[in-house]
Amino acid sequence: MNDKMVKLIAGNWKMHGTADSLAEVRAIAEWARKFEGGVEVALCLPATLIHRAAEAVPGFTIGAQDLHHMEKGAHTGDICAAMLHDAGASMVIVGHSERREAHREADADVRAKAEAGLAAGLKVILCVGESLEVREAGRAEQTVAAQVDASLPRTAVDPAVFSVAYEPIWAIGTGKVAEPIDIEEMHRAIRERLVSAYGEAGTGVRILYGGSVKASNAAEIFAVREVGGALVGGASLTAADFLPIVEAGA
Ligand code: PGA
Repeated sequence: MNDKMVKLIAGNWKMHGTADSLAEVRAIAEWARKFEGGVEVALCLPATLIHRAAEAVPGFTIGAQDLHHMEKGAHTGDICAAMLHDAGASMVIVGHSERREAHREADADVRAKAEAGLAAGLKVILCVGESLEVREAGRAEQTVAAQVDASLPRTAVDPAVFSVAYEPIWAIGTGKVAEPIDIEEMHRAIRERLVSAYGEAGTGVRILYGGSVKASNAAEIFAVREVGGALVGGASLTAADFLPIVEAGA
């Protein structure tokens, strides 16, 4: 990535947070404002919090963690892009490994979701990443490259609104972080796929790292070439944990 590229640091709250947590959202948004222009910060919240959070922190990016790829219809329990937008979300995560696993989302589903999100004007973070078994078998790079090829939107992408997050599954919520050299190699492989799909625009798409990012390792991760930001789970739940990561990326 280009050194001048502003990093995107997005929190993924997963299935955490009720009205009490809006105080943390406010604290994070207020503090992030100090870094405006130097880093882009977002919080991807449970659907139930999106509307209240968006109203509480106008101008700050609130995102969702999933969407249904269709515009409307008989899909009990699902939420489409237009509904997220209507609730105040301006971003969405697609293809997180927890959804790929627990909801059996395949690359084609993820691609349809990414395309639906972009078409509705949402910023999209598309997640990819290998399991421990795949890494130990020496197939991490080819597996992730294949995931990227099959999940990327077939439509043109604007790097300002589309990012890819590399999240090795074995590093999520485990405290284990990939080695800088492994992150660099994987991000380089992902970059190749992005350039092959989008040409010049592919050089500008930010590739985030995710998996046990915290205050103590953020600076080292951000120093790795091709790391364009982070997708942060557990350490994004409180301002005290998240803000040092934002600062490291600014
Ligand atoms: P973690 O989660 O930071 O808690 O490892 C990252 C993610 O799953 O997006």
